[in-house]
Amino acid sequence: MADPSTPDCLVIGAGLSGLILAKQLQQQGHGVLVLDKGRGLGGRLATRRLPYPQVGEGALDYGAQYFQAQTQPFQTLVARWMIQGVVTPWFHEGEVPRYRGTPNNRAIAKFLAQGLRVQTQTQVTGLRRLDKGWQVETAQGDRVSAPFLALTAPVPQALQLLATGDWTLPVPLQQSLEQVSYHACIAVLALLSQPSQIPAPGGLRCPHESLAWIACNQQKGVSPQVPAVTLHSSPAFSQAHWDLPDPEVTALLLDAASPWLGAPVVSSQVHRWRYSLPHQVYGDLWAGDRDLGLILAGDGFQTETMAETLSPMEGAALSAIAAAETLLSWL
Ligand SMILES: Cc1cc2nc3c(=O)[nH]c(=O)nc-3n(C[C@H](O)[C@H](O)[C@H](O)COP(=O)(O)OP(=O)(O)OC[C@H]3O[C@@H](n4cnc5c(N)ncnc54)[C@H](O)[C@@H]3O)c2cc1C
Repeated sequence: MADPSTPDCLVIGAGLSGLILAKQLQQQGHGVLVLDKGRGLGGRLATRRLPYPQVGEGALDYGAQYFQAQTQPFQTLVARWMIQGVVTPWFHEGEVPRYRGTPNNRAIAKFLAQGLRVQTQTQVTGLRRLDKGWQVETAQGDRVSAPFLALTAPVPQALQLLATGDWTLPVPLQQSLEQVSYHACIAVLALLSQPSQIPAPGGLRCPHESLAWIACNQQKGVSPQVPAVTLHSSPAFSQAHWDLPDPEVTALLLDAASPWLGAPVVSSQVHRWRYSLPHQVYGDLWAGDRDLGLILAGDGFQTETMAETLSPMEGAALSAIAAAETLLSWL
């Protein structure tokens, strides 16, 4: 059941951007309720555990892999996370650190969610505008309302939600939002019988035309006891093979990765990310309208320059910070 007490703002999405946004509102004394359809927190900051014979289990980051911190606001956040032991540098390119969550990337979301009211396994299925604010309806049939609504789902999902009401967005806003798109990605999560042959530090970009990324979670520190690799398909492969059954897609991607595996696969799973990395961004850090009491944020809300130069996670964080500042000026 949704908590019936009325928050000042409902945040849809407990990924990086929803949690940063919610935290900033709460720190300024506002009541916030975060709803997420996922079983756990984090959205695309995703880690999964798979059983492994004798040893127990392996763990794999299968969404976001690592990130940089190139702007002052994000560097401030990351410095705080480092002090709390939630992130650590994974490797450096030149002098520049690439960070990862500790013990895994989902830990960043768990840390951000501390002290927040977050309801997972709560899919929002409908949005209704009230005289003052919004009412959301969940798949369980619960209704929660608040004066302000922040949507941090990937933009196509946010648009689907906005289309559930008896009300339409202003046409220019709707059209701009419809331009935002994301690459799809098929992830294969595989446990191996021996350590992988992926060279240190345990991650390779585009090692094969079918693969955008391959990572050794053991070297990364996510799965210290168990050899566990994450394969991410390239956008072209994902598009061409999206509907292929799991066993076939797994065989193709494991074959492409075979030079870096070097050991038999003990078990594997597939996860399809319909929205992985932003492809076409909105061009600004948030969208919305004070009179509507509505704001949209997330990694789709960046300028082109940001999207070319920053990690998507940094883009998501900057969008959330900007959206929170805007909401604070409205509340
Ligand atoms: C395969 C992959 C690899 C990546 N690699 C990197 C990388 O190496 N570096 C990097 O910086 N970034 C990477 N990214 C991108 C990074 O993960 C995202 O930029 C970032 O996590 C976005 O956070 P977000 O909060 O904006 O969105 P999300 O994490 O997508 O959060 C949105 C949340 O909304 C929830 N939601 C959606 N619809 C509803 C609904 N109707 N009701 C309730 N909840 C709903 C979802 O469950 C989700 O938890 C990668 C992503 C993927 C998938």
